[in-house]
Amino acid sequence: MMLQANGITAYHGRIRALHQVSLSVHPGEMVSIIGANGAGKSTLLGVLAGLYKPAQGEILLGKDRIEHLPAHQVVRKGISLVPEGRQVFTSLSVRENLILGMYHKYKREKHTVESKLEAMLEMFPGLKKHYKSAAGNMSGGEQQMLAIARGLMADPKIILLDEPSMGLAPFIVKEILVILQRIRDDLGTMVILVEQNVKAALKVADRVYVMDRGTFVLEGKPSDLLYDPMVQKTYLGTV
Ligand code: ATP
Repeated sequence: MMLQANGITAYHGRIRALHQVSLSVHPGEMVSIIGANGAGKSTLLGVLAGLYKPAQGEILLGKDRIEHLPAHQVVRKGISLVPEGRQVFTSLSVRENLILGMYHKYKREKHTVESKLEAMLEMFPGLKKHYKSAAGNMSGGEQQMLAIARGLMADPKIILLDEPSMGLAPFIVKEILVILQRIRDDLGTMVILVEQNVKAALKVADRVYVMDRGTFVLEGKPSDLLYDPMVQKTYLGTV
């Protein structure tokens, strides 16, 4: 099952944030979207997650059209968003935050909830220490791990991450990249990674889209983009 967006145009009020954007993600793939502030990356994730309705275009998950569905139904279809700034509930415990990630799906299945929680603690052992205490006591990196784990609780087919490395120390960014690769390789979940940290994105993604003022201006494999003069000049500062 693949995710495909065709010709997406979207507005915030009178501002056109996306214009004719098309993207595809294949099973087993991690795709990254890079671009300057305000290019439209978060808006695109919001459209894919059902938070914003596109003015034009269609989104297909497998054979199902989903662009008209509200966000809570999009989650049920198998698309999880890990939003910018983590949006962890700081006064709730780690356990409670995790349960919120799948409450809609399994609220009548206690044993499913418990086995998912166990799986998440295995994948994110750093969360054990704060499991029953307020998530706000954790470091930024740990809160980002929690946000990712919460996104995985619903067993998504595809997980969308909005700048997970933002504000974090390089060694934690490395840990996050390893986790994203495990999500793709071990869980078989498709990944869309929006990143300002272009070097990080090029390191782990299978394919990269470059967004500028609401449209994709370039798409390719990291190995090709690394040598693209525009990418080098604008995003890597190497020319
Ligand atoms: P950033 O990295 O800063 O989040 P981005 O690439 O994710 O940037 P978006 O946040 O999608 O870009 O913004 C795209 C455009 O839409 C920008 O011009 C922005 O000012 C505008 N915009 C975004 N959200 C809203 C909103 N809720 N209301 C009005 N305009 C918005």
